[in-house]
Amino acid sequence: MRGVAVLGSTGSIGVSALGVLRRQRDRFRVVALTAGSNAALLARQVDEFAPAFVGLVNGPAGELAGARAGASGLGCLTEAATRPDVDIVLNAVVGFAGLDATLAALRAGKRVALANKESLVVGGPLVLEAARVGGGELIPVDSEHSAVLQCLTDRRSPPARLVLTASGGPFREWEPERIARATVAEALRHPTWRMGNKISVDSATIANKALEVIEAHFLFGLRYDQVEVVVHPQSIVHALVEFEDRSVLAQLGYPSMDLPILYALTYPDRVPDTGVPRLDPVAVGQLTFEPLRTDVFRAFGCGVEAGRVGGTAPAVFNAANETAVAAFLAGHVPFGRIADTVERVCAAHQPGPVTSVEAVRAADAWARARAMESLA
Ligand code: NAD
Ligand code: MG
Repeated sequence: MRGVAVLGSTGSIGVSALGVLRRQRDRFRVVALTAGSNAALLARQVDEFAPAFVGLVNGPAGELAGARAGASGLGCLTEAATRPDVDIVLNAVVGFAGLDATLAALRAGKRVALANKESLVVGGPLVLEAARVGGGELIPVDSEHSAVLQCLTDRRSPPARLVLTASGGPFREWEPERIARATVAEALRHPTWRMGNKISVDSATIANKALEVIEAHFLFGLRYDQVEVVVHPQSIVHALVEFEDRSVLAQLGYPSMDLPILYALTYPDRVPDTGVPRLDPVAVGQLTFEPLRTDVFRAFGCGVEAGRVGGTAPAVFNAANETAVAAFLAGHVPFGRIADTVERVCAAHQPGPVTSVEAVRAADAWARARAMESLA
């Protein structure tokens, strides 16, 4: 029995993860749950899973019935992530807020099942160093990166090139003028995946795919010219991996996060799970691929360029994006301002090295302030 902490248990990934863990009770024990502010859902989860620890970032956790220990404030994430009874930390927090827990868990030698791609994007060198020093293990939950990992089980054959697939988002075929004026409801209407609001907007701007290129660079130790993106509207093929002999392997599945979550928990083993839908190729019918319209979805190129520049540039890209997406979701700015803001803030940044969490935090704060000015 391995102990699991689910950080962000009330979100889209968190709820899916608890669905997987409910079916895998003979292998895993839920020992810690944390949420941002949804106390009502967290309370129901605590009733069902009776974790030893519960954390509520915004609100008092002590009142939640069933838990033996509770904490509130941001510190509850690292507290949950470093408990001795925790073997696996599923980090399903959204945004920069997930960084400290990723670092703390890896330093404490835990397996981190990483949905929170932002922590790797903003602090890549620190995250890899934390894993090295603490003996922790970083396993992706993101479906494309899980697909790559599943194609890489033969350790003797390193990948030569990755092709990450992108659904293209809700605006794949829209004219640029219409995209610039898109509403919140339109941006959240993702064609194939049901996800939290922030990543849904990132999938509409295609900033999400830039975050994923950076994520792949750090996870698999590849150069940026070895990581490509192709639009695949059916979201059935999650990634393609090319080897030195130009053989290409792919991983397929319906757009559901259950398998990537399960695989991050059981890797390198596979276990049966009747909850994962079985692929019917005839029902799927066509699989199509097309280039990404990089001239239309400018946040993508801006993010990949930040990755190439390295140092604090990805943290600045991420912070500008988080700030602009929040302003869009709040109804303060039109959709088109997200890419404008990210480009403006990245252009104004003087990148420095990522030598410490403080350096990342300073870059993040600078970019948020700069983005707010630009959005005002
Ligand atoms: P979500 O918004 O649905 O859930 C986020 C969770 O984090 C919630 O439990 C929330 O309470 C908690 N949270 C939010 N802000 C917090 C803060 N400041 N401190 C602590 N906790 C906080 O998001 P999601 O769609 O589940 O995505 C979570 C992460 O997984 C993101 O990094 C996203 O990019 C990644 N991801 C999601 C999917 C998906 O299908 N939803 C797929 C791939 C990757
Ligand atoms: Mg993904």
